[in-house]
Amino acid sequence: MDEMTAYAMVINGERVAGASSFPVLNPADETAFAQCPKADKAQLEQAIAAAKAAFPGWAATPIEERAQALVAIGKALESRAQEFAGLITREQGKPIDQAMFEVMGSVAVLMTFAGMRLDPQVISDANGRKVIEHRTPLGVVAAITPWNYPLILHCAKVAPALMAGNSIVAKPAPTTPLATLKFVELCADHLPAGVLNVICDENDLGAELTSHPDVAKVSFTGSTPTGKKVVQAAAGTLKRTTLELGGNDAAIVLDDVDPVAVARHVFQGAMGNAGQICFAIKRAYVPSSLYEDFCAELARLASEAIVDDGAKQGTQVGPLQNAMQFEKVKGYLADAKQNGKVIAGGAPLDRPGYFIAPTIVRDIADDAKVVREEQFGPILPVLKYDDIDDVIARANDSEFGLSGTVWGKDVEAATAIAMRVDAGTVWVNQHMAIDFAIPFRGAKQSGIGGEYGQEGLHEYTQAHIVNAVELSDA
Ligand code: NAD
Repeated sequence: MDEMTAYAMVINGERVAGASSFPVLNPADETAFAQCPKADKAQLEQAIAAAKAAFPGWAATPIEERAQALVAIGKALESRAQEFAGLITREQGKPIDQAMFEVMGSVAVLMTFAGMRLDPQVISDANGRKVIEHRTPLGVVAAITPWNYPLILHCAKVAPALMAGNSIVAKPAPTTPLATLKFVELCADHLPAGVLNVICDENDLGAELTSHPDVAKVSFTGSTPTGKKVVQAAAGTLKRTTLELGGNDAAIVLDDVDPVAVARHVFQGAMGNAGQICFAIKRAYVPSSLYEDFCAELARLASEAIVDDGAKQGTQVGPLQNAMQFEKVKGYLADAKQNGKVIAGGAPLDRPGYFIAPTIVRDIADDAKVVREEQFGPILPVLKYDDIDDVIARANDSEFGLSGTVWGKDVEAATAIAMRVDAGTVWVNQHMAIDFAIPFRGAKQSGIGGEYGQEGLHEYTQAHIVNAVELSDA
């Protein structure tokens, strides 16, 4: 099949062409390499209706069978890992080794949830009274994903939703729909028709999907402004929502570390996926005594990083994913130049594709836009501090609270600082240590609810309490 026609939506177990289509670009060269099917409102209705019809059967399927389906899907994905990684690099831009990491992470998330169960919990069984908490599925789940990690974020919704017995209408981001379409096609071999449907849009069907009366829950990952729209749309029918939103994660470096070694960790944490990670390190706070050495090492790493098409082996930093983000990040470069001292990078590359040179900016004020906002690009502002209480207050002075890192030789002292950072997750001497058995949830405007862990599975269920006593004759 020609790549321009190879992609289809899946509605009620069938491959379906869109009412229309739109091109998908490779961000490394800005050329269209595939056509994506685009749903109209009627097709969205068909997908929701298919999910609604499939729900009772799937909910009644024993959890062991649902787990077996997830395991089969995980194995099928693993057997095609190279193909999926290549497609992710082509549509999303990340270096191929990072795309492979995304695919294997997707397999891991499927397998982790397949290993969980929702056994009834006996809350009380005494004096003739039996109270049991059951976990029942919700119904149709809308799974809406962004463009930075299209496959793993999709799997992170699909796996718990399916395990809990829900049916799904998925909607990927318009600039990275292809890996999701191929994945849902793969799933169709292992699931009853209608249990997992996928439709594509050009940012025009989200409101319809999230306000639809037949959708019981919206699981959304994306930006904070869109997350607020989702809450408003879901309010009409008081849908359950899980929102995984933006972040502006601070790294706090303590004064007992080797600045060169920690600069390397921080660089990795800031520049992975060209900085387009919700919990990328987006600002670093470094004690005055280490500031010069720390900045110098970051500048060296940034200048030496290989920035190229992610499909080329050895590329460390790929392009930004889309033209809109490219323009946005150029705005942050201008802000960095105006309000700080750029010591590496600072400009787009002079070639086709949305490439920005890894950029380090020092001597910048806390209130600069590039410090206060979520850059979502390969830019790292480095800020100086002298007092630990002051730096914690500065790190916490943000509307976001997704995650953060603390770096220190004395792990106990670093952990005590981590306790004072207002964020859902704080890593000590590591970054992005995501384990799907551990809950992940944003604080403040970084989200509502959370994913992963048993708690993440519970987000796709209703607690159903049955409280029974013997019938009294009195
Ligand atoms: P976005 O909010 O623009 O889009 C996300 C998804 O929402 C897309 O599928 C989009 O088509 C859809 N959408 C657009 N308008 C909608 C509406 N009115 N109703 C419902 N859905 C709508 O986000 P993005 O730019 O694709 O992704 C980047 C953002 O995602 C960043 O802020 C990043 O921090 C965040 N993110 C968060 C996490 C997390 O786990 N917290 C993970 C990855 C990305």
